[in-house]
Amino acid sequence: MAERETLEVDVLIVGGGPAGLSAALRLAQVQKAPHEGKLGEPLSIAVIEKAPDAGRHQLSGALLDPSTLTDLIPDFASKGAPLGTPVDNDNIYFLTEQSKFRLPITPPPFQNHGNHIISLSAFTKWLAAQVEAEGIDLFWGFPGQHVLYEGDRRVVGVRTGDRGIGKDGQPKGAFEPGADIRAKVTIFADGVRGHLTKQLYRDLQIGSRSEPAQFAIGIKELWDIPKERLKPGTVIHTLGYPLREEEFGGSWLYAMGDGRISIGFVVGLEYKDPLFDPHAAFQHFKRHPFISSILEGGTLVRYGAKALPEGGWNTQPKLYVDGALIVGDAANFVNSMRLKGIHLAMRSGMLAAETAFDAIRAGDTSSKQLGFYKAAVDASAIRTELHPVRSVHQAFGAGLVAGSAAAGLAMFSKGALLPDLPGHDGHKQMRMIESYYGLAKRDFLVPSNAAPIDRKLTFDKVTGAHYSGTHHDENQPVHLLVQTDVCHSICGSEYGHPCVKFCPANVYEMVDNGAGGLRLQINASNCVHCKTCDIMDPYGVITWVAPEGGEGPSYDGM
Ligand code: SF4
Repeated sequence: MAERETLEVDVLIVGGGPAGLSAALRLAQVQKAPHEGKLGEPLSIAVIEKAPDAGRHQLSGALLDPSTLTDLIPDFASKGAPLGTPVDNDNIYFLTEQSKFRLPITPPPFQNHGNHIISLSAFTKWLAAQVEAEGIDLFWGFPGQHVLYEGDRRVVGVRTGDRGIGKDGQPKGAFEPGADIRAKVTIFADGVRGHLTKQLYRDLQIGSRSEPAQFAIGIKELWDIPKERLKPGTVIHTLGYPLREEEFGGSWLYAMGDGRISIGFVVGLEYKDPLFDPHAAFQHFKRHPFISSILEGGTLVRYGAKALPEGGWNTQPKLYVDGALIVGDAANFVNSMRLKGIHLAMRSGMLAAETAFDAIRAGDTSSKQLGFYKAAVDASAIRTELHPVRSVHQAFGAGLVAGSAAAGLAMFSKGALLPDLPGHDGHKQMRMIESYYGLAKRDFLVPSNAAPIDRKLTFDKVTGAHYSGTHHDENQPVHLLVQTDVCHSICGSEYGHPCVKFCPANVYEMVDNGAGGLRLQINASNCVHCKTCDIMDPYGVITWVAPEGGEGPSYDGM
């Protein structure tokens, strides 16, 4: 049996997205800054990432606010930053089933002048190249699997996933045990609902003093449409149809240039209807006359889905513990009113890097010393942006009218008049079939908002998964740990198998059990790593863990 390797570094960064890569680059910068009088032995820095190469698992709308990029890489233009298309015009509409109403003014959070429509995947690839140019080791295809602790729960690194385990749990021919990467400081940048950050929530109660995290699911497609149809740089957001008053969300449509558009739909994961299907809502949206007239004659190019942390400032967990810091989406740094988080993720990565550097040079990586990171976040643009809108998402939990009122209050008083509203675990809003429908609805497997599929404008989930390019070796343990006895005994009868509805990739399927009933079949190879099931299952019996390194969706160009 192969021996488990141990690697020692000063700083381990878990996650090769914008937050993790910004942390790595900032570490390289601060240790080269002689005027700060901190020169010493160069720090050893490692970044691990589950994707097989840079950007492959990165998905967002995406509109980039370049403010942090300007601070991190002032000469980004001469370094060839792939900033896509500058925003040319902003449009916001309220949709009814057949009509649209353009808002006479674009509310400030939706004003995007100065921002850029980018491919997050391409941007991440470029950022990774800047990090590699500093001589920092980036390990692609290495998912963290367990947090390593020592003594009284001090974080000392991460164990990466084994390779070469068969679906029976036994080593295959090319078995390689995961490595223990030990670090003085570990920076968790493992993204929305990061499965290692989730271990910190469980083991160190880092969420005990914050409001419960809240999430949405975003489903995105790239389309090629006739070039003359939309001016490059056009940004369209919509509210309303097909969502009901009780559901919070909306859409985006960004013209990237050359006929390529990014189109997507976001739904808050606190909807009440257990049979609601976010993917079906997206299909209804594309069938709206306004949207279908844009897409008509076009072709689907790519598909993807990802959860977003939308709870805001009051849902940030404790950001520092002995030996570790948390950054980016893993720390819930997203502005749900602006639908933006990339610049906040990068900013938090920079601040964590500066704190980690100072702590290592001081020879003290205790939570007390690493707590300077929280002070830095509080003094930064992250707080300036997130605190004034801290309760807006929570207010939308009471409906569109209450949410819009809170958003208005936040805008016009810069947050001063906005009360701190209590949050809630989003999925706990989901009602049981009987209480939502007033009677036991029998036809559980049909979503309440089922949409017709024509394979021109609308596509089923299996086709979507195909267009995501996702791939997983079938001969490995299923990376979705599900207590299926709960699904079969109570979740189905009480909630109508909601995993079948909320998963955007048809991973969960109820099939004939051969005895006149149904059983849950898990099509794990379809998974696009969106994390929605880990968040939304009403009994908390689904745990997403990383599959073998390098597997998952392929979001090149997304
Ligand atoms: Fe998303 Fe879970 Fe479905 Fe994978 S199985 S695509 S993480 S909801």
